[in-house]
Amino acid sequence: MTDFFKLAQPGITELSPYQPGKPIEELERELGISDIVKLASNENPLGPSKKVTEGISGQLAELARYPDGSAYLLKKKLQSKLGIDPARITVGNGSNDVLELVARVFLGPGLEAIVSEHSFVVYPLATKSLGADLTVIPAKNFGQDLVATAAAIHENTRVVFIANPNNPTGTWIDGDTLTAFLDQVPSETLVVLDEAYAEYVEDPAYPSGLDLVDQYPNLIVTRTFSKAYGLAGLRIGYSVSHPDIADLMNRVRQPFNVNLMSLAAALIVLDDEDYLQESVRLNSEGMKQLIDACTQMGLGYIPSVGNFLTIDFGRDAMPIYEALLHEGVIVRPIGVYGLPNHLRVTVGLPEENARFVDALQKVLSQVEESPG
Ligand SMILES: *Cc1c(COP(=O)(O)O)cnc(C)c1O
Repeated sequence: MTDFFKLAQPGITELSPYQPGKPIEELERELGISDIVKLASNENPLGPSKKVTEGISGQLAELARYPDGSAYLLKKKLQSKLGIDPARITVGNGSNDVLELVARVFLGPGLEAIVSEHSFVVYPLATKSLGADLTVIPAKNFGQDLVATAAAIHENTRVVFIANPNNPTGTWIDGDTLTAFLDQVPSETLVVLDEAYAEYVEDPAYPSGLDLVDQYPNLIVTRTFSKAYGLAGLRIGYSVSHPDIADLMNRVRQPFNVNLMSLAAALIVLDDEDYLQESVRLNSEGMKQLIDACTQMGLGYIPSVGNFLTIDFGRDAMPIYEALLHEGVIVRPIGVYGLPNHLRVTVGLPEENARFVDALQKVLSQVEESPG
């Protein structure tokens, strides 16, 4: 029998497949229950914008055609809405795709990427799948320690990944700390600033990477339509970088990596400012609801500016996760992120948050009664 694992490219066998949040249908099948609440994948609880669901149906007649591989209209829209120079944009099938394009262009054997402890798992996946080395910097208060990160950069460090805010911790980096870091990074080391949750952050000290790409040519900012824009199922994101970096990334990008429906939906949702505002409002309200409940139950949590809250149970969280499943509530265990005592909960609609809180109260009283 051929050992296909021996034939795989170096680094691939070390990877563990990405574990997504449990799908609602799977839990329905397993437990035979309905009325399930999923707060496990940081999806937008509002559902898609009505303007999108109505507007993209017009595209159905075009499905036999290839999409516009240059994403001309979307780039123009991003220019008019967010002031982004189209020459700086690389579109992706989700921002995940763009993160992989960065790795493909700049990483390989003998080269290194730096990440933080508790950072998004896609960075190690992208790095190791190209046979590059990965250095993990210990977190500080669950967040990225940019002083230690800067000190760890050396000749072969080609990429530093930073999520701001970070998933799954919800921690964030303020503008002064970020620019102090960027000032120290050698121009040959690229900094990927993943801003998947940028739209949710309301603190004025939060820096928009879009304002920094002019000043720092080695900065690559990634954005997505999966979170506040409510299009996770369609898969569309983009990066903003120096035009030469965009040029390189566009050379390895599949010519039609973003599909017709996704392009149309992104174009529509960028004009739906009410939807974005409502998403942000609902999130800050729901975040308060979850935090109040944690305080009441005496549970610790990591303060978060994202659309999720990571709760500390001070003990192995897996039994709590499992018991919540039996109550029809799906949250996210984050042992793979080095946080086995925590669970990450996505902020849902008010009634979904209430369902979670009720289920958690019930589950915790059960868990306390049973030893271990
Ligand atoms: C959700 C998320 C993304 C978005 O991924 P898409 O591929 O755009 O859906 C990117 N980075 C982080 C840290 C995330 O949590």
